[in-house]
Amino acid sequence: MSIIVQKYGGTSMANSDCVKNVAEKVVRSKRGGHDVVVVVSAPAGMTDHLVNRAKEITDKPSGRELDMILATGEQISISLLAMAIKALGEEAISFTSAQVGIFTDENHNKAKIETIDTTKIIKALTEGKVVIIAGFQGVTKDLEITTLGRGGSDTSAVAIGVALKADEVEIYTDVDGIYTADPRVVPNAHKIHRITFDEMLEMAGSGAKVLHLRSVELAAKNHMPIHLRSSFNDEMGTYVMDEEENMEQALVRGVAHTTNNAKITIANIENKPQNIATIFKTISDANVNVDVITQNVVDQNRITISFTVAEEEYDRALRLSNDLGKQLHAEAVYGTEDVAKVCIIGVGMKTTPGVASRLFQCLADQGVHIEMVSTSDINITCVVSKVDYAKAVLAIHQAFEL
Ligand code: ADP
Ligand code: ASP
Ligand code: MG
Repeated sequence: MSIIVQKYGGTSMANSDCVKNVAEKVVRSKRGGHDVVVVVSAPAGMTDHLVNRAKEITDKPSGRELDMILATGEQISISLLAMAIKALGEEAISFTSAQVGIFTDENHNKAKIETIDTTKIIKALTEGKVVIIAGFQGVTKDLEITTLGRGGSDTSAVAIGVALKADEVEIYTDVDGIYTADPRVVPNAHKIHRITFDEMLEMAGSGAKVLHLRSVELAAKNHMPIHLRSSFNDEMGTYVMDEEENMEQALVRGVAHTTNNAKITIANIENKPQNIATIFKTISDANVNVDVITQNVVDQNRITISFTVAEEEYDRALRLSNDLGKQLHAEAVYGTEDVAKVCIIGVGMKTTPGVASRLFQCLADQGVHIEMVSTSDINITCVVSKVDYAKAVLAIHQAFEL
């Protein structure tokens, strides 16, 4: 049995014409001799709308009730797609994650998939049906509804692909591949035909929201190739895959950015390893993800710690930091939402010196002030002011001749 898993994102499911277009693509794959499992997202804008509905009632909805409403968006998509496929003469059945048994941990709004029961899926496929599954959602073992975090349908699709031992997972979206930069910011960005899991991990982790980070982690761990392509044409897209010997090692494969960052500084505390441990233990115990961290030496005995978090976690992180500031006798604690991250990624950086200096020169030429820097083998990240991010991305794209 050759199973293919296809995922269609929000723009691909935006309205009835889009749903019919997806149904045609699915039916073509089915008639091409495949067993097809489809994972879908809510129609474009729906999840935002549901978040806003909740926020109109209270600015602090409980995680459980938020998941209860957010999970409904995908349920609209699965039923409409099943109807559209049946209208084309193929059998199809839609399932929510509770019906299938996509079990997650209990972390509402950012749950992690733990196991997937494939019994119902296999049974329906054996009966000749196209199986359509709601992305983004899961259930705990107590059947509480959870969601996987924004953009999480990609992760649902890869997890289902892995559980079914599919040959590959096709992710259909509104761009025809992964580009050297977000094509909305760099109009002359180029399509990358093949990208390694490691590079894509860095791209997604650095803000290229074209793929949900955890979908790439899961695909990499299980060596599951992802073919990212357009819902609106039949062209080959981008393969995200294990590194192969004949694969060209790009010095810089792409540029990524995020603008939903905030930065917090705890200034002038005693330079004790335990202080740093206390800060990051407190923040992580509150389930806030810390991103870039820098430590500056004030004098021999005193340091200043800065770190970035996602904007939606800023208020919580700042409150905790203010408490920490008092506890650790900091001179001051301050925060700003006026930061963005700009990153360059490429496996070739491992072996080629001079990349960082070229990057810094390029930003200097543009008058872009760098607030923080972090590096890995294949990634250099600069934290800059929000107003500068587009200028920085465009200039870097040009400087590295992407
Ligand atoms: P979907 O709703 O199908 O999941 P997303 O909006 O989550 O789609 O992801 C697709 C979008 O990702 C594109 O429209 C594009 O603006 C953005 N994007 C960011 N970085 C890149 C990149 N490097 N290559 C392609 N698209 C990118
Ligand atoms: N509908 C969800 C969101 O908008 C999940 C997804 O699109 O992947 O975040
Ligand atoms: Mg997405």
